[in-house]
Amino acid sequence: MKRLEGLDQIGFTIDKKHDCACGVVNGYKFIVSFHPQARQYSIMTTIKSIEETGVLSNYLDTMDKGEFINWVSYSNNILVVNIKNHKNLSVSDIDRIIRNIADFAYQNGYVQICRHCGQETSVEACSLNGQNELMCSSCLTQYSMNVPQPKQANLALGIVGALVGSLIGVVVWVVIYKMGFVAGITGFIMAVCCLKGYELLGKSLDKKGIVIALIIAVVMLAAAEMISLGLEILDVYGSYYGISFFDAMQSVPFFLEESEVLAAVIEDLAFGYIFMIAASFTYVRNMYKSVSSDGVIERIG
Ligand SMILES: [Zn+2]
Repeated sequence: MKRLEGLDQIGFTIDKKHDCACGVVNGYKFIVSFHPQARQYSIMTTIKSIEETGVLSNYLDTMDKGEFINWVSYSNNILVVNIKNHKNLSVSDIDRIIRNIADFAYQNGYVQICRHCGQETSVEACSLNGQNELMCSSCLTQYSMNVPQPKQANLALGIVGALVGSLIGVVVWVVIYKMGFVAGITGFIMAVCCLKGYELLGKSLDKKGIVIALIIAVVMLAAAEMISLGLEILDVYGSYYGISFFDAMQSVPFFLEESEVLAAVIEDLAFGYIFMIAASFTYVRNMYKSVSSDGVIERIG
C-alpha cells in the first residue's frame, strides 16, 4: 500500500492535503492518517460506552496484533491504532482492522461521541492546527469562530535574532575550519541558529521570517568562510609582517584573485551550502508546515 492509495475502494474519502482518509463503518466515523515522517499509519475514532466496563480496553489489550499493528490505545474516549508502514500492508488489512474494531464496539454498545463536548453525536473530520480530528458540527463552528490568530512576528527584532543566532554558526564554522575541516553539518547548525534566533527575538516565526532567516544563514556562511580565510592569512603572515587581524581581513579580496584560493573557497562554500540545503530541508519543511497550519481549522472530506 502506497500512502493512502486504494482506501477509496473501501468507501473512504481520501484527502491528500491532510494525508488522511475518512469513512464510516458500522455508523462510526474513522480517520486513517498517514504520517510521512514516522512512516506510520494511525486509525482513529472517538467512541464511548454509557456503562464503561473496560471491555473495549480488554479487547484491545488481548487482540491479535498481527504483523502490522505497532500499538493500540483507548483513553479519554479516543481509540487509536498505530500501524507500521509495512511493505505487505494492503487496503484489505486496514479494512479488516477497522471492521474488527467497529464490530466489537457495536456489539458492546459503544456510541460515537464528540470528544470536545462529550455529546453522543455524529462527528465530522477536520484538521485543527495541523492535527486530524473528529468533532461535532457545533464544536467545529465554535472552533472556527474562536481560532486564535497566530502571533504577529516582530520583523526588526526577528532579524536581530537571526543575526545573533548566525554568530553561533560563524564561530562553529571558523573553529572547525581552524581544525582543518569543512564540516557540512555547520551549514545545518547555521540555518537552525538563524531560524531559532528569529523565533526567539521576533516572538514568532512566520513564512517571511523563514525566508529572511535562511537568507541571513546563506550570507553569514560566506562571511564565516571569509573570516576563516582572514585568520589563515594572519596565521601565515601575521608574525612575519606584523599585520593585525583587520589587515589580514582587508587582504582577503587580493587573495581571492588567486584562482587557486578562489577555487578552494568556492569548494568549501559549495560543500557547506549543499549540506545546509540537505540537512535543513526536513527541518524547514516541518516548520513551514506547522507555520502554515497554526490557527487553521479546515473541514476534511
Ligand atoms: Zn462537540
